[in-house]
Amino acid sequence: AVTPTVPAPATVPGPAPAPGGEPGLLVLKVGGSLLSDKRHSGQTDHEAIGAYASEVAELLKAHPGRIVLVTGGGALCHPVGLRIKAAQDDPYAAVALTEPAFHMRWAWTTALRARGVRAVPLQTTSMLNELPDGTAVTETGVVSRLLAEGALPVLSSDCVVTAAGALRILSSDDVPGVVLDAAVAPGPVRVVALTDVAGIHLTRDPESPVLPYLDPDDVTAVRRLFWDDAWDATGAMEGKVEALAAHARRGAECVITRGDNGPGALRHLFAPLDAWPADVPRTLIRRRTPA
Ligand code: ATP
Repeated sequence: AVTPTVPAPATVPGPAPAPGGEPGLLVLKVGGSLLSDKRHSGQTDHEAIGAYASEVAELLKAHPGRIVLVTGGGALCHPVGLRIKAAQDDPYAAVALTEPAFHMRWAWTTALRARGVRAVPLQTTSMLNELPDGTAVTETGVVSRLLAEGALPVLSSDCVVTAAGALRILSSDDVPGVVLDAAVAPGPVRVVALTDVAGIHLTRDPESPVLPYLDPDDVTAVRRLFWDDAWDATGAMEGKVEALAAHARRGAECVITRGDNGPGALRHLFAPLDAWPADVPRTLIRRRTPA
C-alpha cells in the first residue's frame, strides 16, 4: 500500500472538467514484449517504439496532460533483472537496472520529441520512499506539474529504496501505482497494459477467449490460468495481474489487452469502456463499485 501522498504543489492549476465516462488520467504501459526482438537479435525495436510514439502523440493531442507513459523493459532490462535477482548478497544490486531502464525511457523520449511531444523521462526511484515503519510515501508533484503543462511523463521499471534500507526492483507493471494520485483532471485513473496477448487467456491456446473481468479482491481464483513455463524476470502475466489488481483495489480501472493491433489501435483508449470496439478482446480488472 502506498500512503500517504505528498500533495501536488500549489502552482498546479485546478482540475479541468472531463467529459462523462472518460478517465481523468490514462497510465499507458507498453509491455516489453512489444518493444524488443526477443527471439532474434535481442535488440530494442526502435521501429516499434516509433510507431507507438506516433499513436501516443495523436492521443495526447486530443487529451493533453492526461497521459503518463510507462515503458516496459524488454530485452534490454530482462537479463539485468535476472542478474539482480541472483546477486542476493548485494542489497544494492538493483541499482544496475538504472542504466538499461534509462535507455528505454530515452529511446521513447527521442521518438516522442521527434513527433512534437513534450516528453520528459523521470526516475521512479526518486518518487517512492518505503519507510522503516512499513508505510510508503509517493512524491509525484513533478508528474502533476508536467501533466498540467500538457507534457508527457515517461516512466519505467526502476529500483526503489525498501523499508529495510536496501534497493529492490519496482517492475513496470507496479509503476502505475506510484502515480495514481498525480492526476490533474477529474475522473478515474485508467491503467492500460498493452502486451503480446489479448488479456488473461482461459487456456494455453493463444487463440482461446480471454477472461473478460477479474475482481481485484479475488485474484486467487485465476492463478490456475497462468502458464507455468512463461516465468520471466517480472513474473509474466502473474506479476502483471497482481500489480494491476493492487492498483484496482485503490480505485483504478485496469485493462490488459494486445498492443500490436496496428495503426489507430490506441484511438479508443480514452473512450468509456462500453464504447470500446467489440472485436478487441481484453481483461478488465476493477472493483464492481469503484472504491
Ligand atoms: P514486460 O513485463 O517485460 O513489460 P509484457 O508486459 O509485454 O512484458 P509479460 O510480462 O511477458 O508481458 O506478460 C505476458 C505473457 O504472460 C504472455 O506473453 C504469456 O507468455 C504469459 N502468460 C502466462 N499465463 C498467461 C495467460 N493465462 N494468458 C495470457 N498470457 C499468459
